[in-house]
Amino acid sequence: MALEEYRAKRDFTRSPEPRGADRPRQAKRTRFFCVQKHLASRLHYDLRLEHNGVLLSWAVPKGPSLDPADKRLAVHVEDHPLEYGEFEGIIPEGYGAGVVMLWDRGTWEPEVDDVEAALVKGDLKVTLDGYKLKGSWVLVRTRGYGGRPAARDEGGSGESWLLIKHRDEWSGALDITTFAPLSVKSGGDFADILTAELPAFWTSHAGPERGDLAASLAGIVAKVEKLHGRPLTAPSAPEPRPAPRKTRTPSR
Ligand code: MN
Repeated sequence: MALEEYRAKRDFTRSPEPRGADRPRQAKRTRFFCVQKHLASRLHYDLRLEHNGVLLSWAVPKGPSLDPADKRLAVHVEDHPLEYGEFEGIIPEGYGAGVVMLWDRGTWEPEVDDVEAALVKGDLKVTLDGYKLKGSWVLVRTRGYGGRPAARDEGGSGESWLLIKHRDEWSGALDITTFAPLSVKSGGDFADILTAELPAFWTSHAGPERGDLAASLAGIVAKVEKLHGRPLTAPSAPEPRPAPRKTRTPSR
């Protein structure tokens, strides 16, 4: 699928998200995959698999589970450009507004010969080799739709799939989203990403629409503060230096 839908939903003069190259990268044997933890209208995890020059994408509200008995809803959303797969930062406003954390990344291999046919069939078996997610998994389309308007707003078909771990050496009871909640790119949480990106965001994107952006960013900040239970301070506003203290003559 082309990236028109992705681009049409975003104003790239106002968003730091990658626009996406027009030409797909050269085909290669290993395929990129990532999971982006996305604090938007709701917290969810976006699973993205490189295929034919784009990232096939599913929004997984609860995130992946290593327990084969724990089937996780995965709402099919629009393809994303390959460059987006390394993105971690702030989506300032509008579509998907919030904070994106690169939660896992690595390579994947289809366990079938024909990925297109598997997608049409609604049964795609994959092997993941990430930092957190490994081994055999399956994406299975179910009947009906996700029932999450927010996820459906992200484009794509809105079809409900299930993300299921196959039983292997990498499956188990470990709650991976709780056990390993942080970024594989920066090592940070949402608050760290937000404060780290804040200065760049303001200098490069605070144009004539400053009022709108400020209001939107305030909402994002409030959401992150609520999630982490701690106030944020922008690194662009350095702490005032303490006034030099007068040296006291030690009393003898
Ligand atoms: Mn998302």
